[in-house]
Amino acid sequence: MVARGDRLLTAIAIGREGGEEVLAMMIEDEDLDMVIRGFMADAENTDIVEIRVDSWTVGTIGPDAREIERTLRRDACPVCTRTSFWIEGEEIRAACHDRLCKAWIEPNSVDDERIDCGWPSAQKTRACSSFGEAKRVLTQMRAEAEANAAETTDVVDASEF
Ligand SMILES: [Zn+2]
Repeated sequence: MVARGDRLLTAIAIGREGGEEVLAMMIEDEDLDMVIRGFMADAENTDIVEIRVDSWTVGTIGPDAREIERTLRRDACPVCTRTSFWIEGEEIRAACHDRLCKAWIEPNSVDDERIDCGWPSAQKTRACSSFGEAKRVLTQMRAEAEANAAETTDVVDASEF
């Protein structure tokens, strides 16, 4: 049974026009994360552009019953340009959920001045000093990969990336 003071989590998907769709209500963060990750992987062809995670305290009256835990916003990926790139909060971290791309930006776990980025398909990672720089570096990785492809073959198929 759920008791007074217990915490529940909800994930809400928000559309371009502001419409809301409930994805799940869970007790454990990991369970909610699993639902969210699954949703993000297939969101490219939907009009959902944001996911909001709310934390609810059972038995609370008024607005304090809900606290916004985090938000995720969908954007164009700096590598593959698909709109499968999800950015957490005010650019804390980001990841492309396209199965062939999976480019990512993460704060370094040791050095908090550092932000790392990577593109698994090219087996590349790079240390950066800001989120904006990490995005530019990722775009550069793609450009480098295209340049290399152009050297080895005369025809560059941009859709490969
Ligand atoms: Zn991507």
